[in-house]
Amino acid sequence: MEKLLNYIDGELQEPVSGNFIENINPATGEAYALIPDSDENDVNLAVEAANKASESWSTTTVQERSEWMLKIAEIIDANADTLALVETNDTGKPINLSKTVDIPRAAANMRFFATAILHTTDNAHITNQQAINYTKRHPLGVVGCISPWNLPLYLFTWKIAPALATGNTVIAKPSELTPATAFLFSKICKEVGLPKGVLNIVHGYGDKAGAAIVSHEDVNAISFTGGTATGSKIASVCAPSFKKVSLELGGKNPFVVFDDCNLENTVETAVRASFSNQGQICLCGSRILVHESCYESFKNAFLAKTKELKIGDPLVPFIDVGAVISNNHSEKILSYIDLAIKEGGKILTGGNKTQVEGRCTKGNFITPTIIENLSANCRVNQEEIFGPVVSLMKFKDEKEAITLANDSKYGLAASVWTNDINKANRVSSAIKCGIVWVNCWMLRDLRTPFGGMKQSGLGREGGEEALRFFTEPQNICIQTGS
Ligand code: NDP
Repeated sequence: MEKLLNYIDGELQEPVSGNFIENINPATGEAYALIPDSDENDVNLAVEAANKASESWSTTTVQERSEWMLKIAEIIDANADTLALVETNDTGKPINLSKTVDIPRAAANMRFFATAILHTTDNAHITNQQAINYTKRHPLGVVGCISPWNLPLYLFTWKIAPALATGNTVIAKPSELTPATAFLFSKICKEVGLPKGVLNIVHGYGDKAGAAIVSHEDVNAISFTGGTATGSKIASVCAPSFKKVSLELGGKNPFVVFDDCNLENTVETAVRASFSNQGQICLCGSRILVHESCYESFKNAFLAKTKELKIGDPLVPFIDVGAVISNNHSEKILSYIDLAIKEGGKILTGGNKTQVEGRCTKGNFITPTIIENLSANCRVNQEEIFGPVVSLMKFKDEKEAITLANDSKYGLAASVWTNDINKANRVSSAIKCGIVWVNCWMLRDLRTPFGGMKQSGLGREGGEEALRFFTEPQNICIQTGS
């Protein structure tokens, strides 16, 4: 079996302990690689290397850093098919999704931040006739970037690109469930000759390798994407030393359908927003709120389109729904479906595990599931399931739509469907979440602030926000008058 290795101080190396973890392909249920079961000894080596590299990397010019990152983006593009195949084998997601979303976005992340740093401006304030104040932004030094399994290379690069671009050196940890594209990424960094220690990738479990990164006293900031419970743990470790943290956490996103929407477009996007990547995208709409006057027509069309989705071997082109990430996760999703029935829900379609023939008989495939009849405050409508399961609810007017949309401890994303621009504006600004899409979903512009309100996170990623997070502003005041 292939052994994946840590990338520390520019070298691919085994973990100090010599221990490895099996890496499972979720579509086949079979182990196909081994990954380092790293611990604090590996993290210590990585931090030492990152510290050593920090002085020279932080003083390279933006042009130099930009060139390194653009070279990496080029190699991602040149190897896009291989990376997509590896991503699909690691996650169970349809190959089409890996090819059109995950890998192109990873290259785009590198390019976006590589070029963003060429165009930033620093602030200056003229203080009467007396002084010039200017703001200098310094890199933080060594930073930690921890990412989840649902969009592996996409979210991994979304963090490390701004961190490297702003002159930090990085210790990064992908999820132990999806380490393979991060490993290929380390090979790409070696191939381009990225200076040793600038990026270090430590594989392993979150509560061991991840926790060692978070608690290391020489790691000055943590950029984390993952579950809300993990985010809370990380925040509590960082708080006593005032370590900077950026937390991108869970969601329970409302998808709000008014009766003056374009029903056909709405239904088509609702299916995508519900079941893309088997519903395992933090931005997926999982609470579908529909005006009572179009509830039946929406429901029937949504149901019909959902039933057309093709579930199967994710390597087969044009499969819409692949495998969910793991046995454990599959059990969790199914337990929420059982709970929905206990809570009085009616399963309109799906609701079960299904077997895919051929090489995938042992994979974890769950049929896209639509539930109705649940109360807004039941657990299924309040807790993040993170699978192909959505709940339909009716509302009678705009006020109730907003109340239902906000009836959640989360506040990540929402999607609002109406042809009335004034209503779109009113409703969007009344929904307490970080991103509202109107008549669209997951249309991303990397310059915009990305992140959640309430328990969906702390801070924002994307564009200027990310460049700010990874730097410390310093005010320098020079007296000019006597
Ligand atoms: P987890 O919180 O379980 O894990 C995320 C990452 O943190 C993994 O690399 C994990 O390692 C690591 N980790 C776990 N425990 C610790 C710890 N104590 N200290 C440091 N690191 C730790 O999330 P999932 O991977 O299950 O991802 C799914 C979640 O991510 C969902 O809640 C989803 O909503 C959220 N998410 C949020 C996004 C956003 O932008 N807001 C985007 C995508 C997902 P390991 O896996 O190896 O245990």
